[in-house]
Amino acid sequence: MSKAIVIGSGFGGLASAVHLIKKGYDVTVLEARDQFGGRAGVFKKDGYTFDAGPTVITAPHLISELFESLGEDPKDYYDLLAIDPFYKIIFDDQSSFDYVGDEERIIENVRALNPKDVDGYRKLAEHSRRIFDVGYTKLAAVPFDTVSSMLRVAPDMIRLENYKSVYGLVSKYIKDERLRQAFSFEPLLVGGNPTKITSIYLLIHWLERKWGVHFIKGGTTSLVAAFVELLEKKGATLKTNASVDRIEVEGGKVKRVFTTDGSAYDCSVVVSNADPVRVYRDMIEEKHRSTHTNSRLKRKSHSMSLFVAYFGSDKTYEHLAHHTILLGPRYKGLLNDIFTKKILADDFSLYLHAPTRTDKAMAPEGHECFYVLSPVPNNLSGLNWKDEKEIYKDKIYKWLEARHLPDLADNLTVDFAVTPDFFEQELQSEHGAAFGIEPSFTQSAYFRFHNRSEDVEGLYFVGANTHPGAGIPGVLNSAKIIDKIIPGEGAEK
Ligand SMILES: Cc1cc2nc3c(=O)[nH]c(=O)nc-3n(C[C@H](O)[C@H](O)[C@H](O)COP(=O)(O)OP(=O)(O)OC[C@H]3O[C@@H](n4cnc5c(N)ncnc54)[C@H](O)[C@@H]3O)c2cc1C
Repeated sequence: MSKAIVIGSGFGGLASAVHLIKKGYDVTVLEARDQFGGRAGVFKKDGYTFDAGPTVITAPHLISELFESLGEDPKDYYDLLAIDPFYKIIFDDQSSFDYVGDEERIIENVRALNPKDVDGYRKLAEHSRRIFDVGYTKLAAVPFDTVSSMLRVAPDMIRLENYKSVYGLVSKYIKDERLRQAFSFEPLLVGGNPTKITSIYLLIHWLERKWGVHFIKGGTTSLVAAFVELLEKKGATLKTNASVDRIEVEGGKVKRVFTTDGSAYDCSVVVSNADPVRVYRDMIEEKHRSTHTNSRLKRKSHSMSLFVAYFGSDKTYEHLAHHTILLGPRYKGLLNDIFTKKILADDFSLYLHAPTRTDKAMAPEGHECFYVLSPVPNNLSGLNWKDEKEIYKDKIYKWLEARHLPDLADNLTVDFAVTPDFFEQELQSEHGAAFGIEPSFTQSAYFRFHNRSEDVEGLYFVGANTHPGAGIPGVLNSAKIIDKIIPGEGAEK
């Protein structure tokens, strides 16, 4: 049986392991951290379960089909719960908008905020559907590794006005600034600046309307556990505390990988879910890399980072939705501070996660658990987060207490936070980028890291840094591409 190594156990890595098993490989997953899941890790403290990262589950069929592909019933592994509204968006003037999937209801909610934008919203949704039909249905799970693959889609991209930004295209149809923000913030969930990122990403709106927004009972961490259970049942070996530091190449092909403790793993296929900048630069000698030279790797631009504070309270806040977007006084200016100027602004826009709204078991009885996330510049900012961390966290708590969580300070039970340093050091992500390389036009599709290495035979990449990009649906689709391009076990020898 040919041996395949998967470096990293984010959702892209776990899904790739499923595909490799199906193809007949002997699969070993090597994870550097002491737990599986990558950005979808977990912090468990004093009876609270804090999902560390992804909380919004979309396109759930991409998950269930992986379990089914190995002959298992997903219902035996995890429970999917529908979320309604998808998000509550609260603007700086305290007006709010419930972002829902049902067409009539979302139109009523647009009307309640600004009746003049109802027709515009209908046109925007239709445009989003057309982008989805091309950008998602036709292109999300196909390899983009030739110039011709890119040229083939160029006419569609022009027709669909993908040269405009998400915010730019939303503004063509919507006039109310609050609704412009409500329909354009989502690229932030994949690391892109809404005012710069190509409007292809408007497909997220239609994807959510079509398949809904969900939560996994027990948190996203339960889904990671479900994948681990599935993979172990099907014969894969999964190791934690196994950080890969070298890939040995012989005759242009992968031969074995080494972990920092000196263990060696022979293999004919390596699927890397780790940051490709680091894999190429730090794990493979430069003489084997004519495409991904160190100087080219240096030119990549990286997504923004995140500050995330996790906290529990012994008071419940029933008025909150499961997912709340709290928009601050500035939109474009704040985005510019985060993405371009790379400074920590005085104001912020936040995402507040309140999973106990859906699943009480996430916290002790009568308590709530939360996380609050603030997009911040990546570590090219030069900020010293050791100094900033507590100050920034307290500032956010005070703001939340004054506006949304009365008496928070008196009821806080546990709290801690992660900064861009967590992404840089713990998740081994270049410059602490929370979503891998930036999803700019010049780093998307053909211009993103290819799923098949141009430099080393038998080396493949999966996950947020590859096409189609970050987010759980994105990385699961990148694993589907791996499934298409890696030969079956018999064909390997
Ligand atoms: C706070 C936060 C909230 C998010 N919210 C959502 C959401 O609600 N919905 C959504 O769809 N997406 C969300 N995302 C994005 C989504 O979580 C990610 O895009 C996705 O999970 C990334 O998966 P991945 O396959 O790229 O692997 P990653 O999760 O990046 O995992 C890569 C793994 O590789 C390991 N690794 C790295 N280097 C090595 C090495 N040398 N040796 C061994 N292992 C190594 C790392 O430890 C890590 O476990 C969120 C992201 C963050 C950070």
